[in-house]
Amino acid sequence: MPKKIPIRQCVACREHKEKPLLARIVRTPEGKAVYDARGKLPGKGAYICRSAVCLDKAIKSRALSRALEIEITPDVYEALRARMEEGDA
Ligand SMILES: [Zn+2]
Repeated sequence: MPKKIPIRQCVACREHKEKPLLARIVRTPEGKAVYDARGKLPGKGAYICRSAVCLDKAIKSRALSRALEIEITPDVYEALRARMEEGDA
């Protein structure tokens, strides 16, 4: 039986994609936004395409801040960008 892949929405382009195609950012219980590279951290999550276009869009529109209702620090965006430039999907 094929495994069911969850679908999540990118905060930047609003497209719905399979979860493994998206990067997850989490608001931890301590109230900090972090890039969740393994997709396993507890807390409220937001998703974004693994694409520099969507990342730039999210930075400009502050979509991640709005989705998580918390300030996103530059190191989170840097971690995302580094991951996206690796071409990891
Ligand atoms: Zn997107």
